[in-house]
Amino acid sequence: MIIQPKIRGFICTTAHPAGCAENVRRQAAYARARGPVAGAPRRVLVVGCSAGYGLAARVAAAFAHGATTVGVCLERPGGDSRTATAGWYNDTALRALATEAGLAAHTIMGDAFSNEIKALAVDAVKERLPGGKVDLVVYSVAAPRRTHPVTGETFSSVIKPVGEPFVGQTVNVQTGELSQVTVQPATEDEIRGTVAVMGGEDWLLWIRALLGAGVLAPGARTTAFSYLGPPQTHAIYRDGTIGRAKEDLDATAAAISGLLRPLGGRAFVSVNKALVTQASSAIPVVPLYMALLFRVMKKKGTHEGCIEQMARFYERVYGPEQPFAADGEGRLRLDDLEMDDGVQREVARLWNSVTQENLSSVADLAGYREDFLRLFGFGFENVNYGADVQP
Ligand code: NAD
Repeated sequence: MIIQPKIRGFICTTAHPAGCAENVRRQAAYARARGPVAGAPRRVLVVGCSAGYGLAARVAAAFAHGATTVGVCLERPGGDSRTATAGWYNDTALRALATEAGLAAHTIMGDAFSNEIKALAVDAVKERLPGGKVDLVVYSVAAPRRTHPVTGETFSSVIKPVGEPFVGQTVNVQTGELSQVTVQPATEDEIRGTVAVMGGEDWLLWIRALLGAGVLAPGARTTAFSYLGPPQTHAIYRDGTIGRAKEDLDATAAAISGLLRPLGGRAFVSVNKALVTQASSAIPVVPLYMALLFRVMKKKGTHEGCIEQMARFYERVYGPEQPFAADGEGRLRLDDLEMDDGVQREVARLWNSVTQENLSSVADLAGYREDFLRLFGFGFENVNYGADVQP
């Protein structure tokens, strides 16, 4: 099968196995070159391990620090006439690279929100990680819906403002068309649903399951990822439904820290940079902000991708400065370079002056499109996309 990108709205319905493998290989090479941090964890569990931040967290753990990893993700294999999801290829590539490097990496595919998958992960920690315990649990699930493991209720996550309609400019990254969007405010049910899917409850259930099974190592840490962003995106993000879910994550971090105290452990939220991932492509307004941000940060030489962010994660959390410098809410701020005053002033200036005519010169649409295609394994110059491959 010759595999080409098929883009539908903000997703690509095909993925390329060799391109996804190339993406993982480049991340692993970067992590190796960046090198280990003395105190970095050697036994890591990543929930949401096959794409975006979770994939990079696992790659950095394994290839910078030599960690043994267990991963959990929800991905679909390919068939005779359809490709697997990108995450499925990413995971296959990661495990192959780990094996080559003599590192154990075990993946469980299934619904992280279910009790069954948590039980399988506990068993995997016992059987696959040295000493049967885990030092770091990274929670990086981004999902459109969640079925509650006790009540069976299915919740959906929506990206909407709260209270008032949102009116703002956005860009269709594929066509380069600038437009105004209006998003109506969420209902109470939609807010509740989004918090149930993207808030902290499932993270807490994971930690309770691991703690109950006695598989968290002394001093174990756990993190979940958040985003705050600049005023231009607040109405749709920070002050919207997803922001409510992230506030719930902050509250959950405090609750989990309480549970981990007897072990000498700690939970914290890491606020990460805005990056092109399958999850973030679905948010209106954010792609325009990112295209402007990338232009500014690339010019300044401070642009990072998921793997650079995750390399810095381990350096900040496990480096010589202990405990890491947190913000007033106890959060790790990996978005420091994005939120830099000079960067944000320049982004705001561009935001206010962007027009259809100057869009391609002030916004890094090409960079955004390249990142987007690469999520699905397309656009790598050293991959032969004309070759017949087995999906
Ligand atoms: P992503 O879409 O790239 O990856 C999501 C992961 O979740 C995949 O591994 C997928 O398999 C897994 N997943 C989804 N549903 C699952 C389920 N039911 N069971 C098991 N696994 C499941 O997402 P991402 O952008 O890396 O987001 C991860 C976290 O980082 C989210 O909390 C997000 O809000 C946060 N974050 C993202 C950005 C950004 O710009 N992308 C910035 C800051 C924080």
